[in-house]
Amino acid sequence: MTETPASSNSRPPQRFPVVVVGAGPAGLTVGCVLRAAGVDCLVLETGTRESVEQRPRAGVIEEPVVRGLERRGLAGNLLERARRDTACEFRFDGERHPFGYHELTGGHHWVYPQQFLVTDLVREYADVRGGAVRFGVRDMRVHDLDGDRPSVSYLCPESGHRKVVGCDFVAGCDGARGVTRAAVAGRARVARHDYGIGWLALLAQAPPSADRVLFGCHPDGFAGQMDMHDYVTEPMAFGRLYLAGDAAHLVAPIAAKGLNLALHDAFALGDALVERLLRGDEAGLAGYSESRLRQVWDYQEFSQWLSELYHGGATGDPFRAGTALARLRRLFSSPATAAAFAERYLGTAARY
Ligand code: FAD
Repeated sequence: MTETPASSNSRPPQRFPVVVVGAGPAGLTVGCVLRAAGVDCLVLETGTRESVEQRPRAGVIEEPVVRGLERRGLAGNLLERARRDTACEFRFDGERHPFGYHELTGGHHWVYPQQFLVTDLVREYADVRGGAVRFGVRDMRVHDLDGDRPSVSYLCPESGHRKVVGCDFVAGCDGARGVTRAAVAGRARVARHDYGIGWLALLAQAPPSADRVLFGCHPDGFAGQMDMHDYVTEPMAFGRLYLAGDAAHLVAPIAAKGLNLALHDAFALGDALVERLLRGDEAGLAGYSESRLRQVWDYQEFSQWLSELYHGGATGDPFRAGTALARLRRLFSSPATAAAFAERYLGTAARY
């Protein structure tokens, strides 16, 4: 449900072609793409600049996403500083089983902490490309999404007054707990999945125990604690609102896909907005939701498949334990299965 415009203090509302709600990886990337094309936009963020630049989260970035960032002039530091992983390792049956995906496919995973990427994107958007941004906004609301002149409003952190900003399009990039997805509650179909498990992630300042990502699958379990659930909001577009990243879909960190999907969405949305605003071409925006959902569902299915592989053995259900072990063994006995796994793990499928 969207609200009617809030009245602001006497001045006429500001206006931008695009308002981006949320300065996470998705929102900042949309902003950078727009600014590179000379499109004005405003990014509104509830956190401070320091807090978004210091929030540790993801770290594994797919090669196609790195290339997408590079093509848009956003990968300078990443290309210099990120580690390139060539293999992961499964441990099961009391043994180590290295999985050399680089050897198999020529592809890599890039390891670059999300907070570094966000720091690079904030600098690029605000300091280099001159994009407008307000940090620390409160009580964000979106209005009139079904009309030609939507708007957003927020409480200004300094004055406490409600500010209204008019726009042509709203990019909803405010993550899993934002307001843009909530604004279409009741109109969107939200498909949910709960894994029924938890992971406890311990952050330790210590040298890594191995030079690659490890998956230890043991009858006693798999350590972890975080919200292990997924959702997909369909469609990802409502009137003049386009959702991107975690605002549209949450994918549990099982397969390290959330940041990657957020950036894929942002490339598609940023490019489509530029086409619409500069050339009047509607095709990108019209197809945005459908084309993005194909990859979103593919990644959700992969996460579910991988979760069963990690956890099936520790469920106490001998049938699930048997099939999980069969999956693990097949990865190392069938080249076709190994190739299919590598393609999905690295996100290198030609199309979805
Ligand atoms: P967010 O990063 O959540 O950004 C949304 C922004 O909007 C935030 O800055 C927030 O403060 C702001 N905001 C919220 N509400 C409002 C509002 N009302 N108004 C204005 N602004 C608002 N993904 C991977 O691909 N690989 C990994 O290895 C990986 N590991 C992860 C590990 C952990 C512990 C977690 C929690 C996640 C992990 N993910 C991983 C997922 C990944 O971090 C997210 O998918 C990614 O941050 C999504 O980016 P986003 O821009 O859509 O949303």
